[in-house]
Amino acid sequence: MLTFEEKWEKVLACDAAYDGQFYTAVKTTGIYCRPSCRSRKPKRENVDFYETKAEAESESSGFRPCKRCQPEVDRSPASALVHDVTAFVLTHYKRPLKLEEIAEHVNLSPFYVERTFTQATGETPRRLLEKVRIDKATHLLRTTDMSNLAICYEVGFQTPSNFYRVFRRLKGCSPSMYRKGGADESLIVRDSRHRSV
Ligand SMILES: [Zn+2]
Repeated sequence: MLTFEEKWEKVLACDAAYDGQFYTAVKTTGIYCRPSCRSRKPKRENVDFYETKAEAESESSGFRPCKRCQPEVDRSPASALVHDVTAFVLTHYKRPLKLEEIAEHVNLSPFYVERTFTQATGETPRRLLEKVRIDKATHLLRTTDMSNLAICYEVGFQTPSNFYRVFRRLKGCSPSMYRKGGADESLIVRDSRHRSV
C-alpha cells in the first residue's frame, strides 16, 4: 500500500493518521514505534518497517515496543474499526469511494462507522480519504515529473477543480507551488531530514 519512501515521509511528519498501518523498527536500538512517535528520528538506513506488531516482535525480528509511543497498546476501543477503515482507504483511494462501501467492508452501518471513526480520530472517513489522496499527490509531486492533471486522476480525484480545492485546503498552496518548494510541509520534511541522527 505504501512504499518505503512514503512510510518514511509519514514518520518524519509524525503522522498519526497512519498509526496501526505500519510500525517503524530501528535496527540500532532494537525498538519499534508508531509513525506518530515524537522521539528523535532515527537515520533512514537504520529503519525497517513492519506491517504488524507481531512481526516486529517475532523471535527473528526481536524488536521491543517504544516506551514513549507504546505501539503495543490499543488506545481506543474503536481502534480495530479505525485500523480497518484506514487500511481500506489506503487500498482503494484511487477510485471513487463512498462511505456506504467502506461500511459494507467492515460490516457495519454507514452511520455507525462515520460516528465511531470521527469520535476516535477527530476526522471523518471522507477527510481521511482526502488526506490520503493529497499525501499521495505530494509524494508524486516531489518524486516524479507527472503533470498536475495526471496526478489528480492518479490519486483518485474525479475533477481537477476538486483536486485543486482540496489540495489548497490541506497544503495552503497550489500543486505547482508545492512542487517548487513553496509549501510549508515540504520545507519541514527537508528540515527534519537534516536533523536526522
Ligand atoms: Zn516511539
